[in-house]
Amino acid sequence: MKAEIIAVGTEILTGQIVNTNAQFLSEKFAELGIDVYFQTAVGDNEERLLSLLDLASQRSDMIVLCGGLGPTDDDLTKQTLAKFLKRPLVFDDQAMDKLNRFFAARPAVLRTSNNERQAQTIEGALPLQNRTGLAVGGLIEVEEKTYIVLPGPPSELKPMVQEQLLPLIDRDHQQLYSRVLRFFGIGESQLVTVIDDFIKNQTDPTIAPYAKTGEVTLRLSTKARSQEEAEQKLDQLEAALMAVQSLENQSLSSYFYGYGDDNSLAQVTFDLLKSSGKTITAAESLTAGLFQASLADFSGASTVFNGGFVTYSMEEKSRMLGIPLVDLQAHGVVSAFTAEAMAAGARSKTGADLAISLTGVAGPDSLEGQPAGTVFIGLATADSLESHLVKISGRSRSDVREIAVLHAFNLVRKALLKEKNLV
Ligand code: ATP
Repeated sequence: MKAEIIAVGTEILTGQIVNTNAQFLSEKFAELGIDVYFQTAVGDNEERLLSLLDLASQRSDMIVLCGGLGPTDDDLTKQTLAKFLKRPLVFDDQAMDKLNRFFAARPAVLRTSNNERQAQTIEGALPLQNRTGLAVGGLIEVEEKTYIVLPGPPSELKPMVQEQLLPLIDRDHQQLYSRVLRFFGIGESQLVTVIDDFIKNQTDPTIAPYAKTGEVTLRLSTKARSQEEAEQKLDQLEAALMAVQSLENQSLSSYFYGYGDDNSLAQVTFDLLKSSGKTITAAESLTAGLFQASLADFSGASTVFNGGFVTYSMEEKSRMLGIPLVDLQAHGVVSAFTAEAMAAGARSKTGADLAISLTGVAGPDSLEGQPAGTVFIGLATADSLESHLVKISGRSRSDVREIAVLHAFNLVRKALLKEKNLV
């Protein structure tokens, strides 16, 4: 919703008063998520106000006029808006009652026909009663535009806005709510292909895919009147998306790892390690400490990570992790054997609950006859030792290292979820 605030009053243009009403209104609208695109001030002049209304009605959805509701001849806001909307002014009973009571209590005060203008509203408008003054305000919708008139004195405008206008706008106001779903292990093009029907038919909620190194996110957005209403719509779409099958015949839920803009595989895995009270170590070859450095990015890392190994050369793999050199030579460093031996060695040397290992070819050149992007990841736990071959093709050296680390975090995440019987 695009809103525009028009302050009416020559005193504002001459600098006699500061337009604090606009500041107040902008602040309140911002709190409701309503965008104020224009703030203008215009003198007490019918012609100029008419031309401004013409412009405002073309560029804004909600036009808020303040000032010029008083009894004097130069107070012409309501009259001008009525003329612009081609609607008559009518008396509001409640405002008229208030006016009658005001003058009945003050026989000495002269009552003129001008005073009665303060009790007028535009025909069809919802009156906004003035608790602290006599001029009634109003809200009217014409051709999908909302026009609002408010009194000038802040002592009248503020209570009218707080007590009547904001609850009224807020009830109808829809806010944008989003949910970000994060996936790992499926490429953006495949994800977009398998959910093509959803993307083509999207209206509300909408789906926006976004890819970054090694992972894809889907942002689901909906407009709703409340968080609850939004959650319901987003839950429904999320459940439908999760059931979609990938080209490998796996449901999308098996690639899903978490929610949120500021989340990551490392974060989710770190949280799981912490909540399960487990410690982890790592022996890294091609990633040379990247996995361990990612863990150390989180405050409180020492609760899950005491230390690990960077074993770049074959000799250091042997020396630091206690793997016989002949075995490494026989199997090669880019092998399932080496990945498993590294993980087992790291675990037994540190006594950590879990150990991860990474060995492979960062590229661009091949190694031991294996192409760039070939990575073996080992995982040792108290009762298992396994290794996984990951092929990361067509990526730069730094991407291969980064994506290999993501795979390592994902393996640890899945192992921890399995232990908790969550997958
Ligand atoms: P009144 O019944 O007092 O005439 P009104 O609705 O006609 O009220 P104006 O005559 O435009 O309002 O302004 C009355 C007073 O309200 C101004 O002298 C000023 O003190 C204050 N006022 C008006 N507009 C603003 C504004 N945009 N920001 C701050 N104060 C304002």
